[in-house]
Amino acid sequence: MKKKVVVFSQIDLEILEKLQEKYQVSIINPKNGDVNAQILKEVKDANGLIGAGRLLNESNLSSATQLKVISSVSVGYDNYDLNYLNQQKILLCNTPHVLTESTADLAFTLLMSAARKVPSLDVWVKNGEWKRTVGVGQFGLDVHGKTLGIIGLGHIGAAIARRGFYGFNMNILYHNRKPKLEVAQSLNAEYCELNDLLKRADFIVVAVDLNAESKALISEKEFNLMQKHAVIINISRGSVIDEIALIEALKNKRIFAAGLDVYETEPLQSSELFHLDNVVTLPHIGSATTSTRKKMAELAYQNLVDVLEGKQPQYIVNKEISAIE
Ligand code: NAP
Repeated sequence: MKKKVVVFSQIDLEILEKLQEKYQVSIINPKNGDVNAQILKEVKDANGLIGAGRLLNESNLSSATQLKVISSVSVGYDNYDLNYLNQQKILLCNTPHVLTESTADLAFTLLMSAARKVPSLDVWVKNGEWKRTVGVGQFGLDVHGKTLGIIGLGHIGAAIARRGFYGFNMNILYHNRKPKLEVAQSLNAEYCELNDLLKRADFIVVAVDLNAESKALISEKEFNLMQKHAVIINISRGSVIDEIALIEALKNKRIFAAGLDVYETEPLQSSELFHLDNVVTLPHIGSATTSTRKKMAELAYQNLVDVLEGKQPQYIVNKEISAIE
């Protein structure tokens, strides 16, 4: 009998076809009603799950008795209850590396857009407000030669730092829980305590993973340390920044601007951010290019197939669980 796989979010069509050839596939579809109720029903006899962007925990996985693997089409895994998965001996796989460069491109897109007021000036032109040569209201900030502070010099953080260092002649500061000497050396990057980085950087990019220590890492106190012309970019997870404190800092012009790809609650349906012209808001698209999403889907597929065929997959998050019985 074919093994059963549940697809819990939209997935690349070719990958879906490949899954359907190999397995009995159930697709969770929000159009069919309560998603969590659907998951709870479908996981009962499922061997594998594949998808992204859903909270998976005891409340929607408790009926699973044969579940061996959740293959996430993402590098971040903060939406899975790892303690519960470990207890149940369910492997969690993810897709690091293949999205690093696209996400770093997007971070720089946000940085440049926020510095040079690209979205608001685009609207300004299209509204016919460009009646004479531009004035101070339209002036932005230089990026080249400035100080770039990276919070979380991991894979994506380092790729952002490379863009700043090689492309824009920026001085690089970084903060991690432990210094990353080898990566830092090649970028001439200086390790700083968080407060020191916040005080010194012109551009601050948040690229940590969301964990107990990084939750609300940037709050009112941290905004108050930043320079008045500072620009903050968040491509990691919304909850790393206290959104209310961020909105206050933007409203009061405590900082110059922000560029956001991620939010405390997604999708963002209503927010004070919508009324601020010094924030660039994107809909969580760090990895959303056609080729990168394809690579992520292929990698997630391969991780899933490997586990279901009793092989060691390439990327396991909870390495304490054995892939091979
Ligand atoms: P990674 O290589 O694991 O890098 C994360 C870095 O954050 C690590 O170097 C880690 O170093 C550091 N870190 C973690 N907690 C920290 C803390 N409290 N203070 C300071 N540094 C901390 O992961 P990645 O591949 O670069 O991805 C990073 C995150 O980006 C993902 O987890 C995901 O949430 C997000 N992401 C978003 C998008 C998007 O579409 N916007 C796309 C891809 C990824 P230490 O352990 O030494 O502190």
